[in-house]
Amino acid sequence: MDIKDGMVAAIGNTPLIRLRRASEISGCEIYGKAEFLNPGGSVKDRAALAIILDAEERGLLEPGGVIVEGTAGNTGIGLALVADARGYRTVIVMPDTQTKEKRELLTICGADLRLVPALPYRDPNNYVKYSGRLAEELAKSEPHGAIWANQFDNVANRTGHYRTTGPEIYAQTDGTIDGFICAVGTGGTLAGTAMALREKKPGVKIGLADPMGAALYNYYANGELKSEGSSITEGIGQGRITANLEGLEVDFPYQIPDAEALEVLYDLVRYDGLALGLSTGINVAGAIRMAREMGPGHRIVTILCDTSAKYHSKMFDVAMLREKGLPPAPWLKDAGEAAE
Ligand code: PMP
Repeated sequence: MDIKDGMVAAIGNTPLIRLRRASEISGCEIYGKAEFLNPGGSVKDRAALAIILDAEERGLLEPGGVIVEGTAGNTGIGLALVADARGYRTVIVMPDTQTKEKRELLTICGADLRLVPALPYRDPNNYVKYSGRLAEELAKSEPHGAIWANQFDNVANRTGHYRTTGPEIYAQTDGTIDGFICAVGTGGTLAGTAMALREKKPGVKIGLADPMGAALYNYYANGELKSEGSSITEGIGQGRITANLEGLEVDFPYQIPDAEALEVLYDLVRYDGLALGLSTGINVAGAIRMAREMGPGHRIVTILCDTSAKYHSKMFDVAMLREKGLPPAPWLKDAGEAAE
């Protein structure tokens, strides 16, 4: 018998997949950690579980209690499902710019979804700050209390990756890993995994794959939190040093334009049989750049964050991509062309 005791036990221990195309074109071995196979469909199940377990350990959550969070979607989905499985409720605050697929999924997961306008972090009504205030209010009125998950500045997030993602990758590569790279939303995945890998293997190199419009590339490359351009990616792109990122050192920072990430994303479908979301395109594009800079023969690991399913109306919408001057998947045609 091989039975997991509930969905929570099925989070993590994901396979590490050799990416054939990325390995071939870079001369390195590039591996992707298949986080899209988590029960909630993304890497964020790990952060959701870690945050809830931490709150339980600290006596902050009682049965029927409410977990409030501001999220681009995936953390909300993870929190809602773990909350369902452990007897809590969720109130999820999400910017209204995120795909409709995420909204639908959050509603299906039983979250009380509050859509808010997308505003910069400095605005008091930014979704993260809004969710913090809402949690404070609900803590006063909810009969079983309410907590704010606060994934950006709650270091239980990176501790979850330090305890699970990092050690799993080290064991799966038999300690032969040379580099790890991924994008940053909260920084939990990058910082927590890097902490664990560096502890086990001090020479391991850490890379950052930043989308355009985020400020971290400039910060790690030349010490200045500065952003330029924009990106259609969701769930990544940070403008400040979150508590989860504090103390992180980055050896190889890269800034990846959407067009480059989309080409890599389409290659993942065509050559590897993996239909994934665009943050994964950023990650694998970053891994390819890092492989080329480190030279042939190295082993580099990145994260396959989630599947394409939550983004079909965006990253795989030919008309929308054309409008933005971005390359659609070559085998897809927009409605106009199909009729010709
Ligand atoms: N990719 C996707 C699709 C995400 O939703 C997120 C988190 N919002 C990330 C990557 C980044 O993960 P982290 O928050 O650990 O930096």
